[in-house]
Amino acid sequence: MPRQVDLNQTVKDIVTNAGAIAVGITTVETLAGGPPSADLTRVLPEARSAVTFALPLCQDYIAPFLGKKDYAAHCRDNILTNHLASGIALDLAGFLDMRGFLSVPVACNFVYRKDTPRGTRDELPEVSHRYLAVRSGVGHFGLSGNVLHPKHGAAIILGSVITEAELTPTEPLPEGDNYCDECRLCLASCASGLMDQEEKAVVTLGGRDFSYAKRRAYDRCDYVCGGFTGLHGSGQWSTWSPARFPIPEQDHDFYNAIRAAAGPFARRPKMEIGFYHALMPGLRGEFTCGHCQLVCHPDKEVRKKRHKILVESGVVIQDEDGSRRAVSPDQAESHLEAMPPERRALFEAGPKNS
Ligand code: SF4
Ligand code: SF4
Repeated sequence: MPRQVDLNQTVKDIVTNAGAIAVGITTVETLAGGPPSADLTRVLPEARSAVTFALPLCQDYIAPFLGKKDYAAHCRDNILTNHLASGIALDLAGFLDMRGFLSVPVACNFVYRKDTPRGTRDELPEVSHRYLAVRSGVGHFGLSGNVLHPKHGAAIILGSVITEAELTPTEPLPEGDNYCDECRLCLASCASGLMDQEEKAVVTLGGRDFSYAKRRAYDRCDYVCGGFTGLHGSGQWSTWSPARFPIPEQDHDFYNAIRAAAGPFARRPKMEIGFYHALMPGLRGEFTCGHCQLVCHPDKEVRKKRHKILVESGVVIQDEDGSRRAVSPDQAESHLEAMPPERRALFEAGPKNS
């Protein structure tokens, strides 16, 4: 058997052996014509291919997280799965390097390019795991722009290795097998409005087109998923963030909204489990949202149920000891009204708090 074929199977075996549920290979050719974050050679000048894989998040923790019953279980699972994916990438890159092929592991998240106009503040990844994943058959794009695995839905974490090895590319999954029926529950579960209601983005990778809802300013997701604020526009439910700073209409207003909410964010006590992020105030973040990913299950009934759990979960408040609980919208109002102004300013702004 030719050595090349062995190496293709071996890289797949390495990640599968570590728990990956899907693995695919892209090459410079199959990513040709794509956006800058599909350019492997920007990261590794002599790159020939990339291995991308998916790890599953635990499905059992999702409904309790969305329903505000259990924050810690999903959060811990999310953090550990991200670490595991980055670790697998590191191990695979080391293996390929030892076989004589220079290789670069790509961090799962939170590591950004420095060579863009605002540097790391642009939060552009070195490469997009998503593009590599859909082009290589790890999953389909959903309307949300998340990658959907046929069995695990969007509740997956992606990892990649870029290598000088000439691996053989794998094909995208058949378009007709995509379970995304544009139910729009991902959009309905997003308080930030990141996904455009009408417009779609199309990305072409190696002559194949892939589409999903156009993403508006990423500052939207930073603001809400980052935990700076969390109350949905309806006022009826929230993320795990106890803050309710206003969510602007226009993309360009989000940057200032984040700046205004950063001080209160840094001063609010944090949950027992979170993640470390070099750009966050206080360097510590919390998984407060991820709704677009977590509601999206291959079974539409599960999706509908998860969305219902979310919108009936209530509004999160924070007690003086730092703990959080979900209450009704009216109880949340009363809770805030009973606070002295300096404490209330940690959660909301505007005339109510002046
Ligand atoms: S929630 Fe519905 S519309 Fe959104 S990606 Fe999943 S299946 Fe598609
Ligand atoms: S993570 Fe939350 S805020 Fe960000 S796009 Fe998804 S639902 Fe919206």
